[in-house]
Formats: sequence, structure tokens, C-alpha cells
Amino acid sequence: MVDWMTQAPTKICIYPGCDRPAVPPHPLGGPQPSFCELEEHNALSAHLERRRLEREPQRTEPNEEDE
Ligand SMILES: [Zn+2]
Repeated sequence: MVDWMTQAPTKICIYPGCDRPAVPPHPLGGPQPSFCELEEHNALSAHLERRRLEREPQRTEPNEEDE
């Protein structure tokens, strides 16, 4: 039987819209990062993306007048 139950639950990247698993914590200790292994997913880019999403209301219907 695999004892995967003893491992911590998988943390998910907190970047808006990203559902990739966060990178595992460093074996030598320290807190687990909140982001996946993508370089562009970090605290700064996530902050900017959230601001962008706030300014840009989500549309449920396609809008082709953006350009
Ligand atoms: Zn991510």
C-alpha cells in the first residue's frame, strides 16, 4: 500500500486562473511556494493579473469589438 496519505495535500498555484500544482517545498525546509513552476507565475505577476481582471469585467458572451 502506498503511503501517499502521509504527504501534505497538494497545494495549487494561486495565480488567477491557474490550477497547476504548486512546486513542492524545499527538502531542506522553508515554506512551500504558492505558485507552480512557471516562471511568470509569481507574487508580482499574480498581483498584476488580479488587478487586470478587476479592471476588465468578465463577459459571458463573446465580444468581437475589442480590437
Ligand atoms: Zn501557476
